[in-house]
Amino acid sequence: MSVVESVTVRAPAKLNLSLAVGARRADGYHPLATVFQAVSLYEEVVATPAEQLSLTVEGRDADRVPRDGSNLAWRAAELIADHLGVPPAVHLHLRKQVPVAGGMAGGSADAAAALLACDALWDGGLTRERLSALAAELGSDVPFGLLGHTAVGTGRGDLLSPALSRGRYYWVLATRRDGLSAADVYARFDALAPADLPDPEPDRGLLSALRAADLEQVGGSLANDLEPAALDLAPGLARSLAAARAAGALGAMVSGSGPTVAALARGRRHATAVGAAMTAAGECDQVQQAVGPVAGARVL
Ligand code: ATP
Repeated sequence: MSVVESVTVRAPAKLNLSLAVGARRADGYHPLATVFQAVSLYEEVVATPAEQLSLTVEGRDADRVPRDGSNLAWRAAELIADHLGVPPAVHLHLRKQVPVAGGMAGGSADAAAALLACDALWDGGLTRERLSALAAELGSDVPFGLLGHTAVGTGRGDLLSPALSRGRYYWVLATRRDGLSAADVYARFDALAPADLPDPEPDRGLLSALRAADLEQVGGSLANDLEPAALDLAPGLARSLAAARAAGALGAMVSGSGPTVAALARGRRHATAVGAAMTAAGECDQVQQAVGPVAGARVL
């Protein structure tokens, strides 16, 4: 009898250091131009051979994660099984660190990890390109969960080109248990948007600051077109932003569709001070530190 092996993969959360959003297209999607950075908050997916597809979850906000076919990791297993022509005979166990509905793409990281884990378990031998194409079918942020590091995302955020980045970036992440739905934030964005929205372009100033490891300029370039919509839905977030800036953060922004607020600190010690100020502002449930950039999904 063969020994039943399980495969563990970890995949990082992401921050959008800049996120430019264009007008909603006829197919419902918004064109994006974003600079992604993968940060050191990780999801782990353990894939174990099983009679049929099943899923369990532990860790951060586990009670709010679906355990059925609506879970992105479950859909990832089905998709890759279909692609490889094998039955989706796997149990997936998710260990979550990334807040649910926090705007840091935790579910997408789970999907990226599940793709890689199932490919390893079923000996699929798929190339990174093939896996990335499957990832894009699952969601716009899933390909970046595979790639990691720093990348420019265009299209729906799924067309990636790696970007050069030097230096280490110390983040303070103020998270809230009551998340914001990305769909609600985009709907509010549409309601607030002027009629003549330009096509989104990647921020070249930010990219050159990342190449030069110019922390001040990176901090000053943080920008998120969804922030006004997120602040409109959750006005208290403005207090977290203000507290971070008053504590000397090089920049602060709502992360993606929120409600996580990300602040860039000068280093580890400064991050602790910024975190204390954000906690004192009383708008978040938890403050934690992360560094970036880090690698994408990989088998442990
Ligand atoms: P994004 O930044 O891509 O909008 P997010 O981090 O804000 O993502 P997620 O935590 O990925 O949001 O998930 C949002 C919703 O998707 C959850 O409220 C949940 O109902 C559903 N979901 C599906 N699969 C997962 C998963 N594996 N983990 C967490 N939520 C999931």
